[in-house]
Amino acid sequence: MEASGVNYFLEFTYLLASVFFILGLKGLSHPETARRGMFLAEAGMLAAIIGTLFHRGIITYEWIAAGLILGTIIGGLMAVWVPMTAMPQRTALSHAFGAFAAALVGIAEFILHGGPGMPVFTRGALGFEVMLGTLTTTGSLIAAGKLQGVIRGTPIQFKGQQVVNGLLFACTAGCFLDSVVNPASAMVFYAMTAFGFLSGVMIVIPIGSADMPVVMSLLNSYAGLAAAATGFVLGNNVLIIAGTLDGFSGLILSILMCKAMNRSINNVLFGGFGAVQHEAGGTTGGEMREISMEDAAMRLAYANKVVFVPGYGLATAQAQHAVRDLANALEERGVTVKYGIHPVAGRMPGHMNVLLAEANVPYGDLYEMDQINPEFPTTDVAVVIGANDVVNPDARDNPNSPIAGMPILEVDKAKSVIVLKRGQGRGFSGLENPLFYKPVTSMLYGDAKASLSRLAQEVKNV
Ligand code: NAP
Repeated sequence: MEASGVNYFLEFTYLLASVFFILGLKGLSHPETARRGMFLAEAGMLAAIIGTLFHRGIITYEWIAAGLILGTIIGGLMAVWVPMTAMPQRTALSHAFGAFAAALVGIAEFILHGGPGMPVFTRGALGFEVMLGTLTTTGSLIAAGKLQGVIRGTPIQFKGQQVVNGLLFACTAGCFLDSVVNPASAMVFYAMTAFGFLSGVMIVIPIGSADMPVVMSLLNSYAGLAAAATGFVLGNNVLIIAGTLDGFSGLILSILMCKAMNRSINNVLFGGFGAVQHEAGGTTGGEMREISMEDAAMRLAYANKVVFVPGYGLATAQAQHAVRDLANALEERGVTVKYGIHPVAGRMPGHMNVLLAEANVPYGDLYEMDQINPEFPTTDVAVVIGANDVVNPDARDNPNSPIAGMPILEVDKAKSVIVLKRGQGRGFSGLENPLFYKPVTSMLYGDAKASLSRLAQEVKNV
């Protein structure tokens, strides 16, 4: 192909990729179209890779082939081995890889073309890329470690931490500015790189693992902005578009998550949520009442309306098919069945929607918090399946609770509540839950999948 033909082809594939990314993102904004959105985004990525393979600047294909094979093996193994419940830490690792790639491209570009010959704007974009890329790499690795439990999940804090972090920020920003105005000094650029790696660690260690999903989507946003900066450095349009989309969608997601927890981004980043646990949440008292499998099945079978409220325990138990079976058994008896979905139930946004979609639960049966809360007073049985924090009435009733003000699913307003959980385990916030001690509540202990399967069987036998 002639040089101009190759250029047209390249720009065409990048344009196609950008359109696919935008359509993919639109698809991802609704559960019903999310799968299609994902496929479109993947098609966009494929178009971008194919186009790049025709890039005139490629010197050798050997390293590209090696990277492709290694990346495919690692990605394939992660897809097969990593369970659905470990998806948040897997996502954090992906962010770390993406950000590290952006940082490496920036460092390579600095070694090859850095210095006074590089235009000021490109120097700025390059510094921005490396600063955000390095920070996101180590920040995401710490987030993955906290979520996996290999690093202590509670906030790691020390006296004067904010001052140390402030100084670190000043040093990083100072090196960044200096490397833009004084391009001759390579040492300053490398110092900024080292400060960037250190900043990622220092920013994330004081944050508790309960807040990691918000941190991750913020880091995702940084990785996207680093990629966009890479695009400016390399003059690559698809990187600019995809990075900007990634950067801003990550930011919007972080804001939405904070809103769903009634917390500010500042509180998440600097509040040390989870450092002192269990102290302000203790408005419990009385006893938890257990219910037998048979009694629970009878109560469900003779109800008019049942609302299932799934949480993280549904994901760990992989109970999505079992809840669908129970819902079918109830519906066959004429019971109205609905699902109440809290925006931050589980460990990532849309976690419950994804699981229930996998079990073919109709979208029409899923109700958002604002839609379902007014329905609880007319609900005969609210069945809480491995949810805890998102149904904790302390968030509404106890102004001293660390989760005070977080909107909850008000299951305690239902005529009766059955809570499915394995034992006395607390939620992600580590707080006591007064719901379990209320007269309206009965506890059905056991793994959610096993309990739901037995309940479905019992309901069929009634
Ligand atoms: P949760 O508060 O973490 O509670 C999960 C409950 O499930 C636990 O009490 C546990 O009790 C039970 N459980 C675990 N495995 C089980 C199994 N196999 N069978 C039955 N029960 C099981 O969950 P949540 O109510 O969904 O709340 C989500 C939390 O994550 C909130 O604090 C939220 O703020 C936070 N968060 C989420 C996001 C997001 O994007 N989704 C973002 C930021 C923060 P046992 O151990 O006794 O079984």
